[in-house]
Amino acid sequence: MRILVIEDEKKIAGFIKRGLKEEGYAVDTASDGEEGYYLARTNDYDLILLDVMLPKIDGIKLCKKLRKDSEKTPVIMLTAKDRVKDKVEGLDSGADDYITKPFVFEELLARIRAVLRKKAGSSTVTTLALSDLSVDLLSHKVIRAGREIRLTTKEYALLEYLMRNPNTIVTRTMLSEHVWNIDFDTDTNLIDVYVNYLRKKIDSNSKKKLIQTVRGRGYILKD
Ligand code: CA
Repeated sequence: MRILVIEDEKKIAGFIKRGLKEEGYAVDTASDGEEGYYLARTNDYDLILLDVMLPKIDGIKLCKKLRKDSEKTPVIMLTAKDRVKDKVEGLDSGADDYITKPFVFEELLARIRAVLRKKAGSSTVTTLALSDLSVDLLSHKVIRAGREIRLTTKEYALLEYLMRNPNTIVTRTMLSEHVWNIDFDTDTNLIDVYVNYLRKKIDSNSKKKLIQTVRGRGYILKD
């Protein structure tokens, strides 16, 4: 899952980026409304975290602009504590949710998960399953045939993306867009290396191989 953080306060942006990366999200940052607008229109994000007070274009205007362009990416607004007006205007401008600064990081994570679940069409599902493989989206616990599998953050992010798009060809471009950051130079070899790590952990002990290579296209996760 790839997230765009539009926040001009470097310290906050850095803190959010670090925390989200530790959770396995790919994160890009923009420090003003113009740059944020450009990135949001250029790349395919799963979610946008948008500060209200921003240079060049403020968060409310930016959100309206994105919605006017039919940009459907979910938006969570970062609002200042005592500005009720921001919350109301934020939601009215097309944001999906808001969080008040300063916030506890765990709460931000929970709101992100909730908004992503809503986007996926089911606000109650917290586990994804395919065949005898299951992924707990809250604890990041991965189980295959009753056995827990330990994954690195990147491997988990890859698997979660594949699990969210089962029985579909997932290209290397899609993986680089949703699992890696914008500054990742699209070295597809690296993607293959990670898929192989993941495959070893997920498939090597099972007869049924879930991760399959589609020659010249990418990968498919299927039963
Ligand atoms: Ca700000």
